[in-house]
Amino acid sequence: MTEKVALIGSGNWGSAVAKIVGTNVKNFTHFDKEVKMWVYEEQVNGQNLTDIINTKHENVKYLPGIKLPENVVACPDLIRTCADATMLVFVVPHQFVVSVCKQLKGNIPDNCKAISLIKGIDVNDHGFRLITDMIQDSLGIRSCVLSGANIATEVAEGRFCETTIGYRNRTDGELFKEIFHTRNFRVNIIEDVIGVELCGALKNIIAVGGGLVDGLKLGANTKAAIIRIGLYEMRKFAQMFYKDVKDETFFESCGVADLITTCAGGRNRKVAEAHVTTGKSFDQLELEMLNGQKLQGTSTAKDMYGILSKKGLCHEFPLMTTIYRICYENLPSIKIVEDI
Ligand code: NAD
Ligand code: 13P
Repeated sequence: MTEKVALIGSGNWGSAVAKIVGTNVKNFTHFDKEVKMWVYEEQVNGQNLTDIINTKHENVKYLPGIKLPENVVACPDLIRTCADATMLVFVVPHQFVVSVCKQLKGNIPDNCKAISLIKGIDVNDHGFRLITDMIQDSLGIRSCVLSGANIATEVAEGRFCETTIGYRNRTDGELFKEIFHTRNFRVNIIEDVIGVELCGALKNIIAVGGGLVDGLKLGANTKAAIIRIGLYEMRKFAQMFYKDVKDETFFESCGVADLITTCAGGRNRKVAEAHVTTGKSFDQLELEMLNGQKLQGTSTAKDMYGILSKKGLCHEFPLMTTIYRICYENLPSIKIVEDI
């Protein structure tokens, strides 16, 4: 059977993986060579971003300077992007995935399977859900997850790194590995969707803490302490809510490695540092510094605080709780070390 891949999302990470997936499908006979990529349409210098991508083969706004393979075709229509796909790659900022799934419901082929590259959780009035569960529940399809120490620009430049695919169905995990794995983007597949997904979501909160420490110029030992405590709280939360999450998952690329790289070089870190040095709000800095890219750590801190406070668990997660309070309750940034 021929598999056909559709990419849902074309931001910084979406465009970096478009380069890998577009290249890899050409190496196998069982993949359709065209990869459609859904672009949330916008104007860039008076032109549709989709037209720019399809003529220059570059996402000039979200991943400038990187050529995309010509078999990656940008499409502004979500339903058309996915209509004939058998493998869906979800790579939008987590804020938008619920609305994407609502639009896709009833509009995808029955034999589809999915993978989520999204780092975040879905919170509503009834509680919280993993994004892979939300995809499965709303679309009736199985979903794997891919997450790792993968700053998009470094991956797009072909620098060596690793990543982790979590699967429930091994055949799906192996199939998705084929479209992502390269010599310099090493994929390891493991049977722990929940652990992989929660690592990716929760490390973004800790990365905000890493940036606060940088802004306060507290030094390398303090940053290491935040990383250690953060990893401890990530594992504690994951295993408190999902007893099957494996300890080993935290030693994969999706665990400690992603936590380290995001605390060293990610957008959450950068904006949190600027929050300390400029005194501006996170929302304002996101607009000023990220050129349309989205912060995930602050909103995930808010989501987590909602879960923890409802269950009376804030005292068990002092680091994540303090980071939330600094972001949303005007707590002075120095509380990152005083209140934990
Ligand atoms: P990004 O931060 O570059 O986000 C901007 C994208 O959101 C653009 O494509 C924009 O068109 C789109 N957008 C704006 N408004 C929208 C709307 N209303 N509906 C739908 N889309 C809208 O995106 P990204 O970096 O590709 O991140 C996607 C996911 O990948 C996130 O969960 C992120 O945590 C994760 N991730 C990012 C990186 C990275 O280095 N950038 C690495 C690994 C994982
Ligand atoms: P930021 O969103 O903080 O840039 O993190 C990117 C990432 O997830 C790297 O693995």
